[in-house]
Amino acid sequence: MSESVASGGPGISVASAFAGMRSVTPVRFRAGCPDCRGAFELTASALRLAIGASSSTTFYSFTCPDCGAAVRKPAGERIVELLTGGGVRTLRLHTP
Ligand SMILES: [Zn+2]
Repeated sequence: MSESVASGGPGISVASAFAGMRSVTPVRFRAGCPDCRGAFELTASALRLAIGASSSTTFYSFTCPDCGAAVRKPAGERIVELLTGGGVRTLRLHTP
């Protein structure tokens, strides 16, 4: 299940295309807060995904609905596909 995509480019484009095709289903993502240890579900609009030049600079972020903390967590390839496929807004940090 682990494809190694060093650049991280192509898979994300495909996932975005899928999201555009079927944007009817609301997707919820399970997330947890390291500050207050709360667990909750977030909609795609509550999440942000930032894609850097490497996997170590690729992360997703959200604001904890319980304590208001800004949470940032590393996003692996599968998480990136999951989030982009679910319609999460994506930022590309690196410019080609
Ligand atoms: Zn919290």
